[in-house]
Amino acid sequence: MKIFRRKRSTYALSLVLCLAGIAALLATLWKTWPQVSSAKDPFSTFLTLLWTENLGLIAGLEFKLVYLVVLGDVALISGVVMLVLSVQRFYLPGNVVWYRCPFCNKDWKSSGDKALVHCPHCRQLVHPMIIEKSVE
Ligand SMILES: [Zn+2]
Repeated sequence: MKIFRRKRSTYALSLVLCLAGIAALLATLWKTWPQVSSAKDPFSTFLTLLWTENLGLIAGLEFKLVYLVVLGDVALISGVVMLVLSVQRFYLPGNVVWYRCPFCNKDWKSSGDKALVHCPHCRQLVHPMIIEKSVE
């Protein structure tokens, strides 16, 4: 249950990071758009603005737009990576499965999907059946 909750919080954190990253990049676009859209060379104007525009979030502290872009990129990329990892851990089969022995009909839990295993109950070498069971 503890592991499950940790996965959920990783998932939530990755969504927050993605949203923060997108918000930071949108804020950058919004801030530079008036000058970029009227410039002859929008791309180089945008790059220049990144280094010259300051965000007056806190008085006396220089926070250049480029920092916002870098932070936004980092947040977005790490958010996406964490999201992919947590989704993979959620849905990829083959981590922990339940096997059923065809000889003694007993179940046991193991990792991976093995074709041939020794039944821990009757010690036979068997092709186990994989059965559906909710794993907590
Ligand atoms: Zn068995």
